[in-house]
Amino acid sequence: MEESFIINELGEDRQHYYNAVAPPIFQTSNFAVQTFAELRAAFADEQSTYLYTRTMNPTVDMLRKKLAALDEAEDALVFNSGASAIYGAVMANVQAGDHIISVDKPYNSALRLFNGILPRFGITVTYIDGTKIENFEAALRPETRLIFLESPNTLTYELQDLAAVAQLARSRNILTVIDNSYCTPLYQKPHSFGIDLSLQSATKYIGGHSDTVAGVLTGSRELIKKVFENQIILAGTQASPFDAWLLLRGLRTLPMRLERITLTTRKVVEFLKGHPKIERLIFPLDEDFPQIELARKQMSGACGLLTVVLKTTSHEAIENFTVAFKHFLMAVSWGGYESLVLPQAGGMAPEDFDPAIERHRMVRFYIGLEDADYLLADLEQALEQL
Ligand SMILES: *Cc1c(COP(=O)(O)O)cnc(C)c1O
Repeated sequence: MEESFIINELGEDRQHYYNAVAPPIFQTSNFAVQTFAELRAAFADEQSTYLYTRTMNPTVDMLRKKLAALDEAEDALVFNSGASAIYGAVMANVQAGDHIISVDKPYNSALRLFNGILPRFGITVTYIDGTKIENFEAALRPETRLIFLESPNTLTYELQDLAAVAQLARSRNILTVIDNSYCTPLYQKPHSFGIDLSLQSATKYIGGHSDTVAGVLTGSRELIKKVFENQIILAGTQASPFDAWLLLRGLRTLPMRLERITLTTRKVVEFLKGHPKIERLIFPLDEDFPQIELARKQMSGACGLLTVVLKTTSHEAIENFTVAFKHFLMAVSWGGYESLVLPQAGGMAPEDFDPAIERHRMVRFYIGLEDADYLLADLEQALEQL
């Protein structure tokens, strides 16, 4: 299916709402039936009947169809956050005694779920360097039930070989889950490599305007049904009709926003790379990125996020540099219209800062929709303050 068809036409059903070009927001909690037979049918299959918005809503459904198609998956769920997509995908698929293999330093809410919640149910997690397939093999146990991936991650961008991990997991009947927030389905299609469940924070590129928090999970009809029954119905974590509508609106411009961000990011990478005040630049499609070959093989693009390691060994200098920006905002998150700067040193007490730890000297940038020259001038003047 073509991307333009999915984004502009799939699931729109305009004839059902007066041929309005923009879909309505079905801001209703419940849906009425006419007969006993309809009521019985609705109770028997809550997953495919409009009965109650916690489970089914037309605005949310339209978005689910588009997101499933973009990911070349049978079905999709839309959650009220990326964190809840992670929670739902994992919790629906593990039980006491199970073992999980996770990449090192997965997104913070995954890490806290693995370290804080799952041990209460007797589930253990082994963290590995996911850049080598041998590490997955070495961590396997008879009770390994799930492999959690994030490729690339959003600070240092390590990748996993998705086809190799999927093949290994399938041969042992282990479920694979990936956090695909960095690439979105436009730049990486995990199911095409055999990954079972793919999730992303829709707060980032799909929303795209820094005004919505949401998550997406895609997979086979069977796996999605399981997460629906374990999570959406019970915990009530589906996105609201209004948030779904904002995401539909975000989707319309997703390809062109990513294209624009890609072009600007390339210019920023060129400007920062080799700058005398920068020790190292990390970006997954940079020539010097250690896994550039794998990145080219499984990703059709990269954009927006990049990290630099500053040469300075001073906490104060990093602060002076970060606050010198006139246009980049200092903030978490990314994927919106606005460019951002996030220093790793910013979240720690000055006395904990150790310049010998490379991570402490890392500053992450997110490149938004502003004009390239406008951003380059801001970077230049801030680097002069360093
Ligand atoms: C933001 C983010 C999440 C969590 O998504 P929320 O929408 O903030 O709950 C998960 N993974 C990655 C890589 C993220 O950047």
